[in-house]
Amino acid sequence: MLSYQHHYHAGNAADVHKHALLAWMLDYLMHKDKPLSYIETHAGRGLYDLGDAAATKTGEAAQGINRLEAAFAPDHPYRLRLDATRAAHGATAYPGSPLIAALSLRADDCLHLAELHPGEHALLASHLTPYRPRLRQEDGFAMAHTLCPPTPRRGLLLADPSYEIKTEYDSIPRHFAQIARKWNVGILMLWYPILTSGTHTAMLTHLGATFPDALRHEVRFPPVREGHRMTGSGMFVVNPLYGLREEAARLSRIFAAKG
Ligand code: SAM
Repeated sequence: MLSYQHHYHAGNAADVHKHALLAWMLDYLMHKDKPLSYIETHAGRGLYDLGDAAATKTGEAAQGINRLEAAFAPDHPYRLRLDATRAAHGATAYPGSPLIAALSLRADDCLHLAELHPGEHALLASHLTPYRPRLRQEDGFAMAHTLCPPTPRRGLLLADPSYEIKTEYDSIPRHFAQIARKWNVGILMLWYPILTSGTHTAMLTHLGATFPDALRHEVRFPPVREGHRMTGSGMFVVNPLYGLREEAARLSRIFAAKG
């Protein structure tokens, strides 16, 4: 039974970290006139309203996008996707990662999204309809194993699990190793929380041993509530793009200045 729903957390500091890196990477990939595949294993509903009761109840966006947005240049790909989302859906709209991808891709690129939760899947289908994604209501890693290597072969996979099931920390390094064996040119991105309990650290040790050349980037921020266990956001990137380290360093400076 899935209980996590991202609309309570949309636009929080972890989303800013994840979505800014994603938007930058997709923008970079567009410089080459060659189609690509975008695969996302845990998509969520794709579009959020930061003015709705769920978002205002937690106040996480206030500490995330509302606090950090002005630190990004107006022509940063993340700012451009935010602007496009607000222009289409209203001033309090916020794009999830599938919409950031959809707004970045071209007509001959392929958009593959998995979302297991029936309600979230239905919303994702309605929000993304204009972009004609290939949607599945199934386990995201099962979809990735079926698709990889995808056509087009060039591309990027984002895994953004909710980590509701604690075995996910054990199984993810295995999934990544299997996917990378079949799709050695694919860029694989994994988001993970930085937890006071340190639950995420063994997973990173395994990933680091399998992928010694991967980029691991982390930012820290104050917990959203007293006693909240998440104190930062991490991204592990296999086959990082040229220039990603510099972009990650820019993001580190933004978070450090606003900390
Ligand atoms: N990536 C989204 C974004 O940044 O906008 C947020 C995704 S949210 C953190 C994780 C989503 O994964 C939830 O909507 C949840 O219902 C879904 N989910 C949980 N387990 C799943 C699974 N095994 N396969 C696919 N989706 C799953």
